[in-house]
Amino acid sequence: MTCSENMNLIFLGPPGAGKGTQAKIISRKYSIPQVSTGDILRSAVRESTPMGIRAKEYMDSGALVPDEVVIGIVEERLQQPDCEKGFILDGFPRTVGQADSLARLLEGFGKRIDHVVSISVDDEELLKRISGRRTCEKCGKGYHLIFDPPKDPAVCDACGSALFQRDDDKEETMRKRLVEYNSKTAPLIQYYSEKSLLRVVAGIGSIEDICDNIIKTIDGCRCDNP
Ligand code: AMP
Repeated sequence: MTCSENMNLIFLGPPGAGKGTQAKIISRKYSIPQVSTGDILRSAVRESTPMGIRAKEYMDSGALVPDEVVIGIVEERLQQPDCEKGFILDGFPRTVGQADSLARLLEGFGKRIDHVVSISVDDEELLKRISGRRTCEKCGKGYHLIFDPPKDPAVCDACGSALFQRDDDKEETMRKRLVEYNSKTAPLIQYYSEKSLLRVVAGIGSIEDICDNIIKTIDGCRCDNP
């Protein structure tokens, strides 16, 4: 039985499940970068790059950005030196096509996924949570008015700029995102379960409790894969 030092993780879950929040904490704990395709895309939208302009219309309507765009992002990002000792993919893959591409990509790099952490939360709870999300218009830092509040609900603690509600966090768009999740992303639960990589964690409770459960689940499985 061998424990791999490197940790290559995927965080899977519906929008609002807390993937990003948990990925940030686990990223610090294991000293591996959080690779969030949503963050990379939002930054491209803010900078109005050609990719950002293309992605914006999909994101604003709650649709998934085409596979080839996000696969290109991940391919480039995983080759950065900070991903050598491991990474957390947050919000990728989101379709079976993306998962197949990721498997081919990692094989080419001589790497593999160690755990797929699936954070489960039901749809009604998600709709409640998402309405509290706010994002800084300048630096992109995310907050939640209840779970991770800024000192002033309208102002970013980090840079003092105004906070806004993302178009894709408004209720109608959120419902569309959930439909997208259930039809295109949820099949990955079965996909990774068949590969014995799936670790399901309930996404209900305090941020700390959920985080503890994720760590226990990962550490409990850590030496299982030779
Ligand atoms: P997130 O912050 O992960 O919820 O992503 C926000 C939005 O970015 C999603 O609703 C999609 O429009 C787009 N996006 C992020 N990651 C992906 C992905 N892996 N595949 C397709 N679209 C994505």
